[in-house]
Amino acid sequence: MCGIVGAVAQRDVVDILVEGLRRLEYRGYDSAGVAVVSASGELTRLRRLGKVKELADAVALTPATGGTGIAHTRWATHGEPSERNAHPHVSSNITVVHNGIIENHSPLRDALKAKGYVFTSDTDTEVIAHLVEEELKSAGSLLAAVQKSVKQLHGAYGTVLLDKTDASRVVVARSGSPLVIGLGIGENFIASDQLALLPVTRRFIFLEEGDVAEITRHSVSIFDKDGQAVEREVHESNVSYDAGDKGQYRHFMLKEIYEQPTAINNTLEGRLSNDSVLDETFGNGAAELFKQVKHVQIVACGTSYHSGMVARYWLESLGGISCNVEIASEFRYRKSFVQPNSLLVSISQSGETADTLAALRLAKEAGYVGSLTICNVAGSSLVRESDLAFMTRAGAEIGVASTKAFTTQLVGLAMLTLAIGKYNGLTAAQQQELTEALKSLPGKLEQTLALAPQIEALAEEFADKHHALFLGRGDQYPIAMEGALKLKEISYIHAEAYAAGELKHGPLALIDAQMPIIVVAPNNDLLEKLKSNVEEVRARGGILYVFADADAKFQSDETMRVINLPHVADILAPIVYTLPLQLLSYYVAIIKGTDVDQPRNLAKSVTVE
Ligand code: GLU
Repeated sequence: MCGIVGAVAQRDVVDILVEGLRRLEYRGYDSAGVAVVSASGELTRLRRLGKVKELADAVALTPATGGTGIAHTRWATHGEPSERNAHPHVSSNITVVHNGIIENHSPLRDALKAKGYVFTSDTDTEVIAHLVEEELKSAGSLLAAVQKSVKQLHGAYGTVLLDKTDASRVVVARSGSPLVIGLGIGENFIASDQLALLPVTRRFIFLEEGDVAEITRHSVSIFDKDGQAVEREVHESNVSYDAGDKGQYRHFMLKEIYEQPTAINNTLEGRLSNDSVLDETFGNGAAELFKQVKHVQIVACGTSYHSGMVARYWLESLGGISCNVEIASEFRYRKSFVQPNSLLVSISQSGETADTLAALRLAKEAGYVGSLTICNVAGSSLVRESDLAFMTRAGAEIGVASTKAFTTQLVGLAMLTLAIGKYNGLTAAQQQELTEALKSLPGKLEQTLALAPQIEALAEEFADKHHALFLGRGDQYPIAMEGALKLKEISYIHAEAYAAGELKHGPLALIDAQMPIIVVAPNNDLLEKLKSNVEEVRARGGILYVFADADAKFQSDETMRVINLPHVADILAPIVYTLPLQLLSYYVAIIKGTDVDQPRNLAKSVTVE
């Protein structure tokens, strides 16, 4: 789920490996480790609880020489975060790193213990090391031992192994957790994400599900899930990595909040004509598919799920078709009814979200007319496995709490509404109006970001609070949910979101002066209803923080702080009103002193279910 980096080279690789881990830090993790083996077969392993910095400090003090090595940042699933549970794990000559979960680790552990293997960690990963050691007794090579071993593993893994008696190679296997081979000159690399390898190469091979590969300095041999030797395409990457640079900003999250006007500009660029969206934006054959679509099923997790919820309002009110949205981890485990002419839309920043990917794979068998992913990472599993893809062009998002990925997803979904709507009754005039609105969006976001000092001033009032309530109606209800999620994620304040009309059905009981209530109030046709809900709160002594259109005419007083946002077209309001909520969470987290970019217990790219 977190980071893997490996190398087979002539030069010492420990610094390349640690730098690779640093570049994957944004994913969130709890411990880090590295192992290198020298040509004479001497293995040096270093592991540390906490940050890659701790590992780098240890490396600086301990000579670790060797041209072959593997490294890992761990996000614990089995066994507490600790040095002894950190990867790499060792079984005699075999050393392993692993992302993901081995679901049948318990019977395997029992069987291996019965054979005399001694476990030194609580992880599921350690069974891989002992299993390969065991298989190596009868297999002729590390490659053959890994091929035999992975047949016995259930679950998700991206794993890299080395045998210290033969430092000339590593063997890697992928099933459910991404791995990419980086091709160098006289040296080759492996990682869970190309970002880790950009300092050493730009040429990549993305492994596919079930692949096992043997990597030496001069060769890469790949075998598919049936053990057949296969050739995989080499991709030249143009991904930019500026993650090392927070520029003028204190945190990546703040930088990414401020990047939203540019990210959205990039997302719109070349995709709109004067009066509509270009269907090719979604990939070859999009127009043919969209003409047939009569229903959309969206699957996503977390923040991406919230963008899907907004899209449901848009697709049904403007797109002229029905839409369901479901959390991917629920969708994948229930029998669902597939409406005729349904399009499956998956949404994920990384394109590797395990539950969303599983939902897509299930849907392939289920009779959908096609699949589309809204995704930020080119070459990711969701992009490769979907019929169509809309790339969000947000750039690398480093902060664990998603900001620019969310708003660019919303832009993609607004464009999808236009693209599908034109075959379902959206008039030319409406299309033109929406197109013009989208083009004005970056400017509106700039104006909204200029409110940051006012929002920062509000944050003081939240820092000593333990709970908060977010309210919205219509397409602002998911925005309230996203605001509550941001506050939870980075400030650790318990926050809930309600559709404002639900207040009197329960949550009003919670209202007192200790419960801040945040309201998102654009000037739309639900404004008067929302105003009544605001009065219900005021009548019960609640303190309100209202982000509103100036024309909505809310007045600040002792129990209500009002921040006025620019007037925007209805379709833009969910995107624009997200920004003040992101800023509010950020400034509250700063006052609380939390780890904003890597909040506790969270990982960026959730590649385990
Ligand atoms: N399941 C393994 C562990 O808990 C790997 C976790 C990861 O993906 O980082 O150690």
